[in-house]
Amino acid sequence: MSDAAIGAAAAAAATLLFEVRGLRASFDGNPVLRIDCAPVTSFESGRLGDLVADLRDTLENFRRSNGFGRAIAAPQIGVTERIIYIDAGEPVAMVNPVIVRRSRKQMTLWDDCFSFPDLMVRVKRNLAVLVRYQDREGRKQELEAEGSLSELLQHEIDHVHGILAVDRAIDSKHIVYRTELERAAKERMEVVL
Ligand SMILES: [Zn+2]
Repeated sequence: MSDAAIGAAAAAAATLLFEVRGLRASFDGNPVLRIDCAPVTSFESGRLGDLVADLRDTLENFRRSNGFGRAIAAPQIGVTERIIYIDAGEPVAMVNPVIVRRSRKQMTLWDDCFSFPDLMVRVKRNLAVLVRYQDREGRKQELEAEGSLSELLQHEIDHVHGILAVDRAIDSKHIVYRTELERAAKERMEVVL
């Protein structure tokens, strides 16, 4: 086999692997999304690193085909462990994340999710949170976040406890199709009063 042929075969294999990873994404209705996930207790093997790479690749794949997505939680690739991966500027993998402080001030916003990509949900979240977590080596870390990063963390941490954004809708009228919301925004209409 020539070098070029070997390169092409390797690229094809990489694409296949990528697609297989993408196919593992879980969508609303899959019971795996409703499990209160187990904490991670072992940081010894390379398994955690593989899992984080899988989360990163699946998120990148999803973002390429759907045009949105800033974070992913392990149950969304069928793994029921408390791991989330955030890529909102500086990528960070959080193991066993816990919200230890929430601002009293709240914000209301439209939220979306990888696991029901066609829907938008109006939710109320805390404006700021303090999250404690472990990095992939098991070291204790903290992250304080406000605004959209705070909302993202609350969304992803909900995922590892089997809670979806649709559960947080301010009411049932505020679960709508993305296309309708976008159309209304273009026409400057209020979708739901
Ligand atoms: Zn989600």
